[in-house]
Amino acid sequence: MNNVIIKNGRSGSKGYAIGKLCIYKRNSYRPPRKKIQDTQAEYLRFETARESALNSLDSMYDRTRMAAGSSNAEIFAAQAMILRDEDYITRIKDNILKDNKNAEWAVSSASRFFYEMFETLDDEVVKSKAQDLKDVSNKLIALLTDTDTVLHVNEPVILAADYISPTELIQIDMSKLKGIVMNEGSAYSHAVILAKTLGIPVVLGVALKKVYDGQEAVVDGTGGKVIIGLDHEIKHRYLTLIDEELRDKSKLREYIGKKAVTRDGRSIEIFANIGRPSDVKSAMENDCEAVGLTRTEFMFLDRDKLPTEEEHFKAYREIVQAMEGRPVVFRTLDLGADKQISAVKIKAEENPALGRRAIRLCLTDKDIFIPQIKGIFRAACYGEVAIMYPMITSVREVEWINEIIEEALSSLRKDGVAYGKVRRGIMIETPAAALISDELAEMVDFFSIGTNDLTQYTLAIDRQNSSLSQFYEPYHDAVMRMIKMTVDNGHKAGIKVAVCGELAGDTTVAERFIDMGVDALSVNPGKILELKRFICEIGT
Ligand code: PEP
Ligand code: MG
Repeated sequence: MNNVIIKNGRSGSKGYAIGKLCIYKRNSYRPPRKKIQDTQAEYLRFETARESALNSLDSMYDRTRMAAGSSNAEIFAAQAMILRDEDYITRIKDNILKDNKNAEWAVSSASRFFYEMFETLDDEVVKSKAQDLKDVSNKLIALLTDTDTVLHVNEPVILAADYISPTELIQIDMSKLKGIVMNEGSAYSHAVILAKTLGIPVVLGVALKKVYDGQEAVVDGTGGKVIIGLDHEIKHRYLTLIDEELRDKSKLREYIGKKAVTRDGRSIEIFANIGRPSDVKSAMENDCEAVGLTRTEFMFLDRDKLPTEEEHFKAYREIVQAMEGRPVVFRTLDLGADKQISAVKIKAEENPALGRRAIRLCLTDKDIFIPQIKGIFRAACYGEVAIMYPMITSVREVEWINEIIEEALSSLRKDGVAYGKVRRGIMIETPAAALISDELAEMVDFFSIGTNDLTQYTLAIDRQNSSLSQFYEPYHDAVMRMIKMTVDNGHKAGIKVAVCGELAGDTTVAERFIDMGVDALSVNPGKILELKRFICEIGT
């Protein structure tokens, strides 16, 4: 008889999965022992690896602090302290210089020595250091052996971790992820949005200990719970739910080719939100009318160098061609806050969500912006393309963007490189942009309302902070009025207005959006047909 454990949390992304739990931890590889002649060179190799591990821990500390707060980042500071510890270094040094051992074995041996010592002590604080010691030693060994420490998922699993950043997630083979369990983060954090795009169920607010690693579990992303130690009855119940979900998905296919029109004739277009060329398949299978939002930064989160113009161009051309004539909106890089890449060094900020991010980063660093603009305009030779700017707050910013676009295009002309016609649009996701949407509407061809950030900035509530989720209220009247104001101002200037935040896929407000006159809803590919069915059933 299994001991069934139910952990209640919150829904992050709906759906069900049954699978083996993989508790997120780094590789632990035991290197072989070798005899070394040139011990000085070997010691230098260790010192170089130690230096590099310290740099990477410093930047992980900064990134995590910005994305998930100081308490979550503390672990990296603790690991850095171990790398600076005299006893630890001396033991490794003696292994290399006195005993002629290879650096990776020296690290592994020192790690085992201190780990066993910590484990025997009857002090919980010291015991908790044992895991840090192991992790940091594995990091050093990975550097010395030129193997990476990225989590490798080789079989279908349910991934459980305290917090997974979008950067970490993007480095995993996500086709192997059946479900995700995270303690931190909210349904509006980008890692969860990424999971939703791929239809992966997510439960939030549940912390799982390492002892559960490898155990069979259910992720109930709809009910917001994780069940471990499945008995026959639970397994049967969830297999039935998964089966019903699949049958419902196949029933939804009858909406392919149909327009989203209410019974009384009110209509709205349905677009897809994507992050990478591989997402187009699902967007097309679900019959999107266009891609209303490409979060271009998702393509480059795992990079340690800035993408070149050619890389931008090839990625966008691939998307445009795969869309077979349906329009694509490329949002310019929305980096910063919880979306950090090592190629762009952003100094630690007190308030990263209000900091150097998105369009501010692009406007102040043309090496980031110009190659992307050129890539987008060049991809327009292959289909209908639009460019869209995130986090706009002023008319001046849009004028400034136009100047930089002109500079990029004149450079393409000078080099004889072909580019196409590109429609221009603004994301309305700050209260400032909503309030001056009458002026902004005169400057572009369309608006798209980002309700995730519009809610965050209107209500002054961090969208990432799981402890504030009861206050994060996208249906708040203040947010709704801003949406209505933006739609009216857009229409007065003769431009279309879409909604592309998570609220666009929320059926409880779909009719309200239609009545406000919203022209299109841009949602995760897996949501398109469900939303269409819902809209087609509205009215009498
Ligand atoms: C938004 O803010 O609503 C939005 C669509 O952009 P992102 O979620 O990528 O910040
Ligand atoms: Mg946003």
